[in-house]
Amino acid sequence: MRSHLLNDATAERYRRLVTEGVERVAAKIATTDRPFTGVTVDALSPRIDGIDLDRPLHDTAAVLDELEDVYLRDAVYFHHPRYLAHLNCPVVIPAVLGEAVLSAVNSSLDTWDQSAGGTLIERKLIDWTCARIGLGPAADGVFTSGGTQSNLQALLLAREEAKAENFTDLRIFASEVSHFSVRKSAKLLGLGPDAVVSIPVDRDKRMQTVALARELERCAKGGLVPMAVVATGGTTDFGSIDPLEEIAGLCEQYGVWMHVDAAYGCGLLASLKYRHRIDGIERADSVTVDYHKSFFQPVSSSAVLVRDAATLRHATYHAEYLNPRRMVQERIPNQVDKSLQTTRRFDALKLWMTLRVMGADGIGELFDEVCDLAAEGWRMLAADPRFDVVVQPSLSTLVFRCVPAAVTDPAEIDRANLYARKALFASGDAVVAGTKVAGRHYLKFTLLNPETTTADIAAVLDLIAGHAEQYLGDSLDRAS
Ligand SMILES: *Cc1c(COP(=O)(O)O)cnc(C)c1O
Repeated sequence: MRSHLLNDATAERYRRLVTEGVERVAAKIATTDRPFTGVTVDALSPRIDGIDLDRPLHDTAAVLDELEDVYLRDAVYFHHPRYLAHLNCPVVIPAVLGEAVLSAVNSSLDTWDQSAGGTLIERKLIDWTCARIGLGPAADGVFTSGGTQSNLQALLLAREEAKAENFTDLRIFASEVSHFSVRKSAKLLGLGPDAVVSIPVDRDKRMQTVALARELERCAKGGLVPMAVVATGGTTDFGSIDPLEEIAGLCEQYGVWMHVDAAYGCGLLASLKYRHRIDGIERADSVTVDYHKSFFQPVSSSAVLVRDAATLRHATYHAEYLNPRRMVQERIPNQVDKSLQTTRRFDALKLWMTLRVMGADGIGELFDEVCDLAAEGWRMLAADPRFDVVVQPSLSTLVFRCVPAAVTDPAEIDRANLYARKALFASGDAVVAGTKVAGRHYLKFTLLNPETTTADIAAVLDLIAGHAEQYLGDSLDRAS
């Protein structure tokens, strides 16, 4: 069994086997003609259930063959230009190379003595991101597992800074279309069930600052403690960006922590054309960025950044065996002092490889392309009588629904759209997402693939309209 350990004696075996795996994935990616096969849970489950984990195959090639059957053949492929569903990006090759390196070396970023250069590389990328945001000279941050963890950590710091006697007095203000991780964080942080005050949005799905001002005032008058305003820099559904400058002004006025959730909109930090759309982000106390959404990085790659490095102390605990207090005086950089995690992947290496090979402009160019594609897609939808489209995109999502001319019953329109999404998924021809707007069912394209063309968008819209018509035809048959 020792031959399976990666070490000096097995380096050749490592090279051969990993290359074999890479060959298979490369062959797969070169030949996927659809984003999905349409496999069902019922079809796939028995194949996986049938495998006895206590009877290993002892043969890597055979295991790769088996993997083809249980995973690779029917996986959902984000690199395909007709995968238009969630906030998943196609990944850039330098980052995938970084992934291969980081898992083989397997540094752990909790302490200097488990990572050395890895810690310094991560710190440099944090500084680079803070500078891109414009957070100022005292800024710092740390890589996280994702936007959810970044939001949790930012709100933990905000809670500690708010210094309330009673956690149940604390209030967080976030728009009605903010990410659900804000509510989840409030619960994890021990706040009360009414902790998150939902602020209405305008027609463009941006937080209404007049309503925010009113709620901040009400909070102060009611003897409650405003803990944080979460401004979303690119909402998950609409890509809408809250009015950051106005929100920053209100946060200053009321002395509230401003968190910007730019999990999605952080791509603008590299943009060559649209950076101004996220202006005001530099006034935040904390920022969430998800490189695995708009920097074309493999999952996971994310960070939380703060204006004042000192606030990260709220996440600092010392253990004699790991990061004793004296190491702070010795100026030994232990990233665990700033992180919610202990053992932690060197995810930063992927971004490092990306920036060193492509440069930030390379990422920005790709992100600009998908923003331009979304703008073009919006024009197509707005001009197409078969569809109703919601907001003009600030980033790269489109929320729309099929509105068949012959149907007026809103519930029937809902069902036709739900059916169209399911039928499309089952066909594997394309994958799209769905959401609700004002209680009605809508469909969503999240465009993060620069290889997707307007012809792809037109073709997928035709498929959707076709499935919706099919549903309505069947529905007529059922009625008669
Ligand atoms: C995706 C997203 C999150 C959560 O990020 P994960 O990386 O999925 O944990 C938070 N906020 C917004 C606005 C998002 O789009």
